[in-house]
Amino acid sequence: MSDNIKVVVKVRPLISRELEDKLFHQWRVKNNTLYQIDQNGRDCGYSFTFDKVYDQNTETTDVYNDIAKPIVEAATAGFNGTIFAYGQTSSGKTYTMTGTKESPGIIPLAVINLFDIIKNIPDRDFLVSISYVEIYNETLIDLLNTERKNIKIHDTLQGVKVDATVKVTTSPEEVLQFMQEGQANRQTGSTNMNEESSRSHSIFQIKIESREHIEGEEVGCLNVSHLNLVDLAGSERSGQTGATGIRFKEGTHINKSLSSLALVIMQLSEGQNKHVNYRDSKLTRILQNSLGGNAKTSIICAITPAALEETISTLQFANRAK
Ligand code: ADP
Ligand code: MG
Repeated sequence: MSDNIKVVVKVRPLISRELEDKLFHQWRVKNNTLYQIDQNGRDCGYSFTFDKVYDQNTETTDVYNDIAKPIVEAATAGFNGTIFAYGQTSSGKTYTMTGTKESPGIIPLAVINLFDIIKNIPDRDFLVSISYVEIYNETLIDLLNTERKNIKIHDTLQGVKVDATVKVTTSPEEVLQFMQEGQANRQTGSTNMNEESSRSHSIFQIKIESREHIEGEEVGCLNVSHLNLVDLAGSERSGQTGATGIRFKEGTHINKSLSSLALVIMQLSEGQNKHVNYRDSKLTRILQNSLGGNAKTSIICAITPAALEETISTLQFANRAK
């Protein structure tokens, strides 16, 4: 595994719906290996080993400290970084990235951590701004201004630029306000909240600019870095659910962008110097400057404990990416 790409697996606990249906854990975690188990808890088939596997009792703060904190720290020093949550619908991606009031996710933890780090670097001036977009059927939507649909991506001398609303912020509270605002926008117009959001990718982007100052004078060059916190669309296959029409179209777009992401990650983790297929999907295009090179990437693969087929397919994705 390339030092700059980390892939970890997170199993969520059984949720009440699954407990009511008397579903059981089909996976046991031991020493960073997942073992498929039967109803009696006996090993019965597959096993997968990763650098890190978090069981159902792990708090998001532990995951954060292991794989997100170093990326946030690097971002304040000028390095781009991206953290993905990958997995089937209902596997815990949004819980991990956004979290709840009681259990804040990677985004709020990163934001609080970021402002904390900045406060402790008194010899630099920092400017933090954010944007929040959603990719649905290869269309880019501005979550901080719903009037703006189908926003564009441009290639500039500074790299790929998205025409999204940019909010300059000065406090973690303000950033979290924008996060909530954006998430509310993700859900409007949909009859079933989880339905819509599970079919789109959301990218919460924090831009960090800084310059050293000595006795009030700005010196040296401007450091610019981007931190992308990505809640991917559900990885389940459209074919498996017998989808037709609009659902089928959504499914093919999702599969296409997730497989193009997988290809890019694979090309990068193999350390290829040759062509990387960033341009195959909007997702990889937007993230182009933040994947590869000196950029740091973590992928959190979220697992539903009571699922077999989809969990295996997530673990196979995780295997390919590492
Ligand atoms: P996804 O975004 O992958 O579709 P969610 O994050 O919405 O999945 O999670 C599905 C359900 O599981 C939600 O009700 C969520 O609160 C719950 N859940 C996920 N992870 C955990 C966890 N670690 N602890 C408790 N509940 C969880
Ligand atoms: Mg979700």
